[in-house]
Amino acid sequence: MTGMILVYRYRVKSLNGLLNKQSRAVNYVWNFCNDTQKHALRWGKKWPTGFCLNVLTTGSSKELGIHSGTVNATCEQYAKSRSQHRRPYLRYRGKNSLGWVPLKGRDLRREGTAFRFAGNTFRVFDSRTLPEGTIKDGTNFAQDARGNWFLNIVIEVADVPARPIRSGVGIDLGLKDFAALSTGEKLPNDRFGRRAAEKLAKAQRARKHRRHIAKLHARVANARADFQHKLALDLVRRFDYIAVGNVSAAKLTRTRIAKSVYDASWSSFRDKLRYKAIAHGATFEEVNESGSTQSCSACGSKDSTTRPKGIAGLRIREWTCSSCGVVHDRDTNAARNILRCGRASPGAGIPCR
Ligand SMILES: [Zn+2]
Repeated sequence: MTGMILVYRYRVKSLNGLLNKQSRAVNYVWNFCNDTQKHALRWGKKWPTGFCLNVLTTGSSKELGIHSGTVNATCEQYAKSRSQHRRPYLRYRGKNSLGWVPLKGRDLRREGTAFRFAGNTFRVFDSRTLPEGTIKDGTNFAQDARGNWFLNIVIEVADVPARPIRSGVGIDLGLKDFAALSTGEKLPNDRFGRRAAEKLAKAQRARKHRRHIAKLHARVANARADFQHKLALDLVRRFDYIAVGNVSAAKLTRTRIAKSVYDASWSSFRDKLRYKAIAHGATFEEVNESGSTQSCSACGSKDSTTRPKGIAGLRIREWTCSSCGVVHDRDTNAARNILRCGRASPGAGIPCR
């Protein structure tokens, strides 16, 4: 089967104590790999591959109290990380490392809404349903900065044929609202995520402790991911074609922290749209949105004398095109221009730029 590789993330409800224990055994294996590597360096021997490390650790799983697939996945990840980072050896894993228990995809099975691994059933918090597909290596249990355990499932799902394009939407990502759609809808920012982000910014300014900040970071990331998943899913279900602007925060805001937060948020949303569109047979396109705010989506005029311009134009929420007289909501107009600028757009007709 050839298909798309997706990662599904579930917060683990049960057996966190067991995972804490197993992650210490994983650290032990990891550190053994690091020692083996250092030994090879010191004595000028051939550097061990993942396969070599597997051979050296064969039979250790029972004594360590972890699945043999976990031992293998740890060894293989060690070798992979070392070559990816082009390092002669890596850092040891200790009590400051976030918990991690990798496994082989074949060893994880679904059991209703829970998952079965190495003789244990792991219940997870209600979340997105795992699609049909093959669970792959790279799947792991991992802890976040708050100490919560997550199950990250790497799954290969079959490609879905693209739907014929009958409906389309343009999306203008923004600061005031999360997005404006070409349909005239406004999607508000998620309140929980924004409150979390404000708390984080405050803690950063107050130079709070690193661990505290890491916790807030994790909270913001979780809230944001959840919010974006839901929005993206809703959009790919409603529309066959989705065009989103390639906005960057540089021209919209002046503070450095805000810029990076917005850019990260927008690019992760575009990624989610892209993946979900493929999974649902919708067509996704990222459109160069320069000029989308200033052109009239009704008549195509680029030089209406009343159009919003530059940073000063950011405050203009509504304007009337001096060429055709149509009244525009600033962001909806931008979203409509983004839609018609897409190559596969069902509404394409008026030339862009
Ligand atoms: Zn006009």
